[in-house]
Order: sequence, then structure tokens, then C-alpha cells
Amino acid sequence: MEIRSSHALLLACALACASCTPSKAPEQPVEAPVDEKPAAPAPAAEAPPAKDTRPVVPAQVVDNVVELSAGDTIAFSANEIRVQAGKKVTVNLTHTGKMPAEAMGHNFVLLAQGVDRNAFGLKAVGATDTGYIPAGDEVIAHTKVVGGGESDSVTFDAPPPGTYQFICSFPGHYGVMYGAFIVE
Ligand code: ZN
Repeated sequence: MEIRSSHALLLACALACASCTPSKAPEQPVEAPVDEKPAAPAPAAEAPPAKDTRPVVPAQVVDNVVELSAGDTIAFSANEIRVQAGKKVTVNLTHTGKMPAEAMGHNFVLLAQGVDRNAFGLKAVGATDTGYIPAGDEVIAHTKVVGGGESDSVTFDAPPPGTYQFICSFPGHYGVMYGAFIVE
């Protein structure tokens, strides 16, 4: 009798404790919503296709002759070129810096419409034998790669009216050296 009653007491105690703990337990998970913060920035990074939010710096263009330059930094002198349709276009690219082409080369590459700048830029890295111009029909016109003190020009028929992209396809430059080439 004594043994059973002590068991019964233990059981009663265990039940009491068991009924106690669940009422306290739910409060803890509610206070810890830690995992929600890292999830938020991820979708924002994927979502919009990169828009050019830089202030517009137009290139000097006289009678469809474009003056474009770049120095010892990864930057073009302009990020917008406006030309007239139905005429020849000449782009004069001048390297105003001192660094050699192997270290800080620049070129002017006009991409066909719809060509993805990043995908093209990555492909161009491997085209070392052709001045970082990969084979294919993604390029409308381009200069050679120039180093400090050098210049090069290219003349071509203006493509149909629309907005195109121009870049420097020297490895690592296309992320910053690009702009809009607008045919009006
Ligand atoms: Zn460059």
C-alpha cells in the first residue's frame, strides 16, 4: 500500500509537471524569429535587371564623329553617345593615360541589340588573340585595344534607330566601362 501510494504520488507529480511545462513552452519559440532577417535581401538582388542610374555624360559628337577617351582608370569619358541614323559613324578612341595596354587597355565595342553585357564581357576575357572580341555576330563595330598615349578609330554604318550598348571589353572593365549608344 505504501509503495503504491508513493507511486501514485510520483505519477501525480509527473502529470502535474507535464501539465505545467507545455503551458510555459509555447512562449519561447514566439520570442525567437531570428531566421527571417537574412531571407529578405536575397530576392531584391535578383529581381531588377541592372538599370544605368549614373548621371548622363554625353560624348562630344560632331557630324557623327564621336570623341571618346579613357585614361589610367577604368572609366570612359562619356556614358552616352548620340548619333544620326542613315550615315557613317566614326568613333575616335583616345587613351589619355600612361599605362600600357597589357595593364590598362581600353577599346570601344558596340554591341548588337539584345546582347547581354555581362555574358559578352565574360566571353571576351578569353578572346585574347582577337583583342577581346569573341567570334560571332554580337559586335556591330569595335576599335582595337589601346594603351596610354595611343588612339584608334573605327568607321561604320549607323545601325537602325534604337538604343545600343557600348563597352570596353578589356578583362574586368565591362562592369564599369559601358554606356548607351543611341541612334536617332
Ligand atoms: Zn577599358
